[in-house]
Amino acid sequence: AATAGTATAVAHPNIALVKYWGKRDERLVLPRTDSLSMTLDVFPTTTRVRLDPGAGQDTVILDGAPAKGEAQRRVTAFLDLVRERAGMSLRAVVDSRNTVPTGAGLASSASGFAALAVAAAAAYGLRLDPAGLSRLARRGSGSASRSVFGRFAVWHAGDADATPRDADLGSYAEPVPADLDPALVIAVVHAGPKSVSSRAAMRHTVATSPLYAAWAAAAGDDLAGMRAALARGDLDAVGRIAEHNALGMHATMLAARPAVRYLSPASVTVLDRVLELRQDKVAAYATMDAGPNVKVLCSRADAERVADAVREAAPGSRVVVAGPGPGARLLHGGG
Ligand code: ATP
Repeated sequence: AATAGTATAVAHPNIALVKYWGKRDERLVLPRTDSLSMTLDVFPTTTRVRLDPGAGQDTVILDGAPAKGEAQRRVTAFLDLVRERAGMSLRAVVDSRNTVPTGAGLASSASGFAALAVAAAAAYGLRLDPAGLSRLARRGSGSASRSVFGRFAVWHAGDADATPRDADLGSYAEPVPADLDPALVIAVVHAGPKSVSSRAAMRHTVATSPLYAAWAAAAGDDLAGMRAALARGDLDAVGRIAEHNALGMHATMLAARPAVRYLSPASVTVLDRVLELRQDKVAAYATMDAGPNVKVLCSRADAERVADAVREAAPGSRVVVAGPGPGARLLHGGG
């Protein structure tokens, strides 16, 4: 390994247009289906990793306070992986700041682990190409594999029958060509942390929902349709596929036993408003993740109109207009 040190990286969250929901391997974070997302130009996470030769354990500061419990364990387990690959045992001080509400279905774990992967790889002197960084970020949080890249990215599930080593190698994200520069209007109807983590909810859905298999079986067509629609710059087709893929994912959760329900009354009110916009001939389509917040895809030209409509539908919610953003990058530091 190269010289160790201190490194700071920044990464943005991504919102999937074809969702990741369900793992086939928990330890390696291998998904059951391919997924495709847009990295945002808002809500960056900045993470600094500093190797600490005197320390007997890692210190994790998240948004200015020591991380506890599961959040702390996830980061330490991730650093263990980096240390194993770098052939080093030094502990580190990790200081990370999200600008997005943490754990609210706004993809803080995606920006968080993409930034951590880039910063930790640099601090521990691991030299990785973009696909290698994406595989590494995946081990922290599956969706983080996609935030390594800007604009649109596809995360390959990889071969389900491969050996663990080959399966790991085959599951990474890469950029997807798109002739489209849309807006994503994000309605933060509730900024508090979710009661069930994405990780636990997807595990429960795969294990108990009779609808899961049908949704996963349709993911291949959704992905092929999405790629083609992005390539030809067809906002309506992108939106239609994103919306049915997302609502289908929520249907799998509603059919789980017991049900996992992330939609709130305010979410449904926004979904209704999106339908009204379409009746008024505005191309607007909704997507939702593991939380009550709704993201509305539309053209840049319609973004303010859509934002106003969403504000009116969900008074008190924070509405943010995002566009396609950059991939994860090192700000400074490294070997
Ligand atoms: P979100 O709910 O924010 O959209 P998600 O849908 O991926 O993210 P979870 O899988 O529940 O939801 O992830 C949230 C968890 O990710 C947090 O509880 C924390 O453990 C971890 N996390 C979030 N931000 C960071 C960060 N900047 N650095 C390290 N870990 C983070």
